[in-house]
Amino acid sequence: MTRRYLIPLLSFLLAANISAQDNPAIPALRYKSNHSLTWEEAISYYRSLDEAYPEAQLLEMGMTDAGRPLHLFVISGDREFDPVKIHESGKAIILINNGIHPGEPEGIDASARFAADILENRGGMKKYLRNCVIAIIPVYNIGGALTRSQYYRINQNGPDEKGARRNTRFLDLNRDFVKQDSRDARAFADIYSFLDPDVFLDTHTTDGSDHQYTVTLIATQPERMYPGMEKFFRGKMIPELYSRMQSEHNNEMIPYVQYTERGEIKAIDGFKECLYFSTGYASLFNSFSFMTETLVYKPYPERVEGTWQFITELVRFTSENYKEMLKLRCEANRLTLTDREYVLDWEQDTTRWDLIPFRGYRYDETTTPITARKTGFYNHDKPYVDTIRYYNYFRPAITVSAPEAYIVPFAWEEVIERLHNNGVVMHQLENDTTLTVETYYIENYEHADRASQGHYFNTKVAVRPAVQEVKFLKGDYIIPLNQRSNQYIVYMLEPQGEASFFAWNFFDSFLEGQDWYSVWGFESHLKELLDRDPALRSAFEKAKTEDTRMATDPVAQLQWLYQNTPVSELEKRTMLYPVGRIMK
Ligand SMILES: [Zn+2]
Repeated sequence: MTRRYLIPLLSFLLAANISAQDNPAIPALRYKSNHSLTWEEAISYYRSLDEAYPEAQLLEMGMTDAGRPLHLFVISGDREFDPVKIHESGKAIILINNGIHPGEPEGIDASARFAADILENRGGMKKYLRNCVIAIIPVYNIGGALTRSQYYRINQNGPDEKGARRNTRFLDLNRDFVKQDSRDARAFADIYSFLDPDVFLDTHTTDGSDHQYTVTLIATQPERMYPGMEKFFRGKMIPELYSRMQSEHNNEMIPYVQYTERGEIKAIDGFKECLYFSTGYASLFNSFSFMTETLVYKPYPERVEGTWQFITELVRFTSENYKEMLKLRCEANRLTLTDREYVLDWEQDTTRWDLIPFRGYRYDETTTPITARKTGFYNHDKPYVDTIRYYNYFRPAITVSAPEAYIVPFAWEEVIERLHNNGVVMHQLENDTTLTVETYYIENYEHADRASQGHYFNTKVAVRPAVQEVKFLKGDYIIPLNQRSNQYIVYMLEPQGEASFFAWNFFDSFLEGQDWYSVWGFESHLKELLDRDPALRSAFEKAKTEDTRMATDPVAQLQWLYQNTPVSELEKRTMLYPVGRIMK
């Protein structure tokens, strides 16, 4: 530690109010010359901040698929680093995640600069630390960051080298937040429950559109919030972040541009948030959450600065509104404990929209220089301003009433593990027990033809509920719905949940069915049954006289007998989803 002799140097820096980037103890950032921090450089950068400033700590939080630990950098003005005590002291915790897609590294450099700036009190920024603590994941996807090339994201305007999108197991970590196949996602979940952040930001770069803006913004789907938070989020937080980016930084933002049709951008679709995205995951724990998506065609230094500006405004806003935000979040957390109505899927409300200004480029036709392909392009020589529709309202498409508790058989180990990872409290049956529970029969589903994330995603799931007695075994897990992780539990265990364990194939083996009768064994057994039961025999004979096809078809006869004898008990378990719902 070099703290003792750094104090005079720091006082000098403070007096001069210059950036920590001028502090010789801190490595210089080189994003202005198109270099983004490598993983090693990022960690050594934060380590030097940790050594130079007592308000900063660099922690190792868990293992990743790259065989390197995930780091977390925490800035706390009063040097309290225990999140429980931080929450008790009434401060907000902001978590910033960077490099989930390491080819989109703005946030890696912007957060590094921001951390140094606030620790050095540049422009009086340190005052924000009175009301909030800032936690930064320097680089989330370490495996992707270690695989750098100038050729990744080749249409992107810098930096000189970029990381790979997927992690060491070729998983896209921004699809892995709830199913958690990667160690990375499990370490992230540990960080999330350790910090329980009030505000969350995940930084990205977008190549899906072209227009005049540098920073585009995804705000978590407001409808996912409880009403108090939603009102504040839509009515105050989002508008103020937009207006401050304009007024303080002269850097107008636009919502993430998903256009409704190819060519000139006529309208923007709101972001229907899936729970497997970072902001979706954050919504499960009632955080105010965002993704920045800077535009791929803008110069790298501008993208880093735009991200830095947004981080600054997010921290400032939180610091100025922390009391109200914490109150609303506290109320949401309280509602989570007892809420029983859940929306498993949303659809866009096409009858509602907001009008927003849009600075675009005209869409022209061209012929490409090498292959002479005819294509359209956004002509930067033809900028324009227009007012367009922004469709950012959603309505429930599938809803469910949650039970008092779920019961998950011990057998489904991967599911139990993930529930544990997400802070779910459960207890095990002490004896084999028959319970009357609500169950689901899977009536319909569609399997994806191609794997995504190593899964053949199930969609269009239809269920038929049935209340029945089910025998559970000693060791099966009862999961009461009275806890912080309620939303994770319901959305993951309801088979119609758009990102549920069922959707991600965790339960697929039950779909293959189970014991079936062998024709010979069944028929010899049937003779006994029919001899013993004259009523059954006469019903069987009657069915044959009424259905001439059946009379001549042995398989149809067996099918009739199967359905009309106690052997049909077997049928009860066919397509029966293994998770039970314990009702009041
Ligand atoms: Zn991304």
